[in-house]
Amino acid sequence: MTETTAFHTNILTLFPEMFPGTLGQSLAGKALEARKWSLNTVNIRDFTQDLHKTVDDTPYGGGAGMVMRPDIIEKALLSLPRTGRKIYMSPRGKTLTQSYAEELAKEPCLTVLCGRYEGVDQRLLDAYDFEELSIGDYVLSGGEPAAIIMLDACIRLLPGVMGNTETVSEESFSNHNEGQLLEYPHYTKPAIWTDANGNDHAVPDVLTSGHHEKIKTWRHEKSLEITRLQRPDLINKDDK
Ligand code: SAM
Repeated sequence: MTETTAFHTNILTLFPEMFPGTLGQSLAGKALEARKWSLNTVNIRDFTQDLHKTVDDTPYGGGAGMVMRPDIIEKALLSLPRTGRKIYMSPRGKTLTQSYAEELAKEPCLTVLCGRYEGVDQRLLDAYDFEELSIGDYVLSGGEPAAIIMLDACIRLLPGVMGNTETVSEESFSNHNEGQLLEYPHYTKPAIWTDANGNDHAVPDVLTSGHHEKIKTWRHEKSLEITRLQRPDLINKDDK
């Protein structure tokens, strides 16, 4: 099958039914339907040759758990007409950031390997130059949810997926003079919201003033304040 979308993804997994999952809904789902990106899910188990469809085995050197076999994954990988950049979802990998997602979203094709058990035999990763990508410093039971998160971050950046391109440059982690700032707070109607306890909560006056310069300055100050409070490590950070 030759895919002609600008962002083609191959997913190598033992749980193909987990895809598209949340990527089939909302923004990513509409973009999938509109062929702004495409998805080819490959069940690694289809490439086993024994009766029990075994994909894993015990680790050399001993220890707990099972390891996914390189020969089976290789067959799944070689079944693909094209692979593009190859990514292994792994807690050992470089952590996903906004700029990493921006970089990946520019690739025409990604092949994403989802691990299970203790992970994948290292020889497969080395032989086929897999880049390891983590979604954060914690351990999931499988690479599938991590792949979905990584792809969600990429897909929303594809041309024509989000309506208003200005929103991207104002979002959290976009680069500013001071570093990567978190986004300012949002408010919508009603202008005064009375909560269930009878307390009134008004929208900050500046936002209803109609004064665009003042609103811009207020939002920037709020961004700085929130970033200093929640993520001081982002101040003066520039991933570009
Ligand atoms: N034994 C591995 C370790 O300690 O590094 C963890 C294996 S984990 C139980 C099984 C699979 O989940 C991994 O092979 C990987 O594909 C995926 N995974 C777990 N945590 C992840 C994370 N933070 N980011 C990306 N993938 C993750």
